[in-house]
Amino acid sequence: MPTEDKSSVFWETHTDAEPCPFCGNRELYLTEDYEPFTNDFCGFFIECSACGASSGRGMKEESAYMLWQTRTSEV
Ligand SMILES: [Zn+2]
Repeated sequence: MPTEDKSSVFWETHTDAEPCPFCGNRELYLTEDYEPFTNDFCGFFIECSACGASSGRGMKEESAYMLWQTRTSEV
């Protein structure tokens, strides 16, 4: 199990997502992002567990997922 820390409080593996366009890794994490000072929620993003590539932020999980898929198709 991933350990909990302040920058990634929610992790979920998306093995059905497109593989990372940079390294081909299929183990991706859905992460919540918060402002460092105000601690306001500012979106979800998908991050590659191997090379750290990330999608744009979306306010919903589905949005982050779509951004990742879109990014993959653009590469
Ligand atoms: Zn990667």
